[in-house]
Amino acid sequence: MSPDPSLALENTADTPDTAQQILRRVFGYEAFRGQQQAVIDTVAGGRDAFVIMPTGGGKSLCYQIPALLRPGLGVVVSPLIALMQDQVAALRQAGVRAAYLNSSLSLEEQREVEEQARSGELDLLYAAPERLLTPRTLALLERCELALFAIDEAHCVSQWGHDFRPEYLQLAELAQRFPAVPRVALTATADERTRHEIRQRLSLEQSEEFIGGFDRPNIRYRVTRKQNARDQLLRFMAAEHKGDAGIVYCLSRKKVDAMAEWLRGKGWPALPYHAGLDAEVRRRHQERFLKEDGVVMVATIAFGMGIDKPNVRFVAHLDLPKSLEAYYQETGRAGRDGLPANAWMSYGLQDVLTLRQMMDGSEANETQKRVERHKLEAMLAFCEITGCRRQSLLSYFGDTLPAPCGNCDTCLEPVQTWDGTEAARKALSCCYRTGQRFGVTYLIDVLRGKDDDRIRRLGHDRLSVYGLGSDMDAAQWRSVFRQLIARGLLSVDLDGHGSLRLTEACRPVLRGEETLELRKDPARAPRKRGADLRSRFDDPADERLFNALRACRRRLAEEQGVPPYVIFHDATLMEMVEYRPDTYEQLRLLNGVGEKKLTDYGDAFLEVIREQGVDA
Ligand code: ADP
Ligand code: ZN
Repeated sequence: MSPDPSLALENTADTPDTAQQILRRVFGYEAFRGQQQAVIDTVAGGRDAFVIMPTGGGKSLCYQIPALLRPGLGVVVSPLIALMQDQVAALRQAGVRAAYLNSSLSLEEQREVEEQARSGELDLLYAAPERLLTPRTLALLERCELALFAIDEAHCVSQWGHDFRPEYLQLAELAQRFPAVPRVALTATADERTRHEIRQRLSLEQSEEFIGGFDRPNIRYRVTRKQNARDQLLRFMAAEHKGDAGIVYCLSRKKVDAMAEWLRGKGWPALPYHAGLDAEVRRRHQERFLKEDGVVMVATIAFGMGIDKPNVRFVAHLDLPKSLEAYYQETGRAGRDGLPANAWMSYGLQDVLTLRQMMDGSEANETQKRVERHKLEAMLAFCEITGCRRQSLLSYFGDTLPAPCGNCDTCLEPVQTWDGTEAARKALSCCYRTGQRFGVTYLIDVLRGKDDDRIRRLGHDRLSVYGLGSDMDAAQWRSVFRQLIARGLLSVDLDGHGSLRLTEACRPVLRGEETLELRKDPARAPRKRGADLRSRFDDPADERLFNALRACRRRLAEEQGVPPYVIFHDATLMEMVEYRPDTYEQLRLLNGVGEKKLTDYGDAFLEVIREQGVDA
């Protein structure tokens, strides 16, 4: 039986739709995830909610479905115009009556949207906070029946957070003006203090709180020891991510430009993104990243918020982020579609030195510095950890994972440790005896007994530590120093030469009261084991079909000027490859195929599948 497309979106039954039916019929999904159902019940029941879910956890449905269940207009506050436009495009694809109000609209377009809102022709209206709070928009809303307010990226209200937007502070006004309308605030920020602040500032003290688990099981976390970061990155990308979209984060604008150019020279479609670029260039690069398949964005942290492209297959860090919060948020941009994705980072002695120095030289007051230092400690500990990375990440956010995950580098390739107590003592004592005025390279030269003019001139060849460490090579010594600095047994001076000093923390080791288990760094990049991301295409016919489906999707997306994933996600295309549906009925069973998309695109994709079947 083929569906009657004209009826697809209407609910012709006498009973109203349930949340479950909307999930299936409109969004094409089988089951709710995590806390979604509970949030939807609360908001649909007219009560406020505060929702904390990791990036990719599925926050949008938490307000989109209640807006469809309740009579009237759902108003969504969202900070970024580009994000709004994509969300609205995606909703329209699913047959939801959605629109946005922002500065990109002409006056005429704006009037049209307002008229639609007034006459009850919209289910969802997206607006930036400054637009929402204009007298004009508020007056409009007073004349509409309102289903709910959703405040997305609610951490923007927090002055401590990294995305503070003053306009968000005024959103508390909504509670006074529209006391009968339920409000739901959503964020991915886990930090307890920020959470508290959000509730307070948005007058949500009384609301129910929903905290989703923080785990992103499809992301594989890896930290490799930095040798030649560029080449390592390139090898990683070539081995696992040909044709995939990804983000490469660097600390400085200069490095972003250089890396993007270098990758382009190696044949990768890489684009730079940072705050120093022209707004128009940034917009164009972001658009290409969203709309084309397989673009690699090389960026500073200026890039990312509100990028909800679901098929970012990898996020790479060439420099160490300043905190685990930042790391988790940035890596969280990979694999929102739930398919395997990689979080890859290269990390080395220089990262530790740079960050330690940056921290100590920071202008912040003492309290702020203490917070920053604490965050950096946690980040460094994560890099040097010998146990499961995911367990350590989650425990940092107050979540627990009972067993090692099996999907991080330390699980896949267990780290060897060695008793580094003796070596540490030698390193510390070398630092002490040479007057705590030298950097790592010099100290290693002394330890290894290098024949060197400067050492002789300073008389360091007569010290007892001279040549005391000739049993280990320079790389091994660098590894020891890195770990001593990461663990805070040595601190880095601000003199610009990276001189090392002993800290209080090294006393127990020097006195022989404490032993030190150190990480044994692998001699070269570890071979990866376990499920390969690409193993999904064991069969070349599958890969051909996948590529043909992608091409079909790209064509449809270009016709309409929307990003490809707004048509169908990769996950849906993967299911088409796996199940080779032949009829509407079979296609409808796949995840992500709702009634409207079945009607609009069913034929096109079924035809691709049939053609490929013939070729095979
Ligand atoms: P967030 O805003 O929390 O980062 P989104 O709302 O963008 O996450 O959802 C992430 C992805 O998961 C989206 O592509 C969405 O379509 C998908 N998704 C959300 N809920 C479900 C569900 N119940 N079943 C399948 N996919 C879902
Ligand atoms: Zn693990």
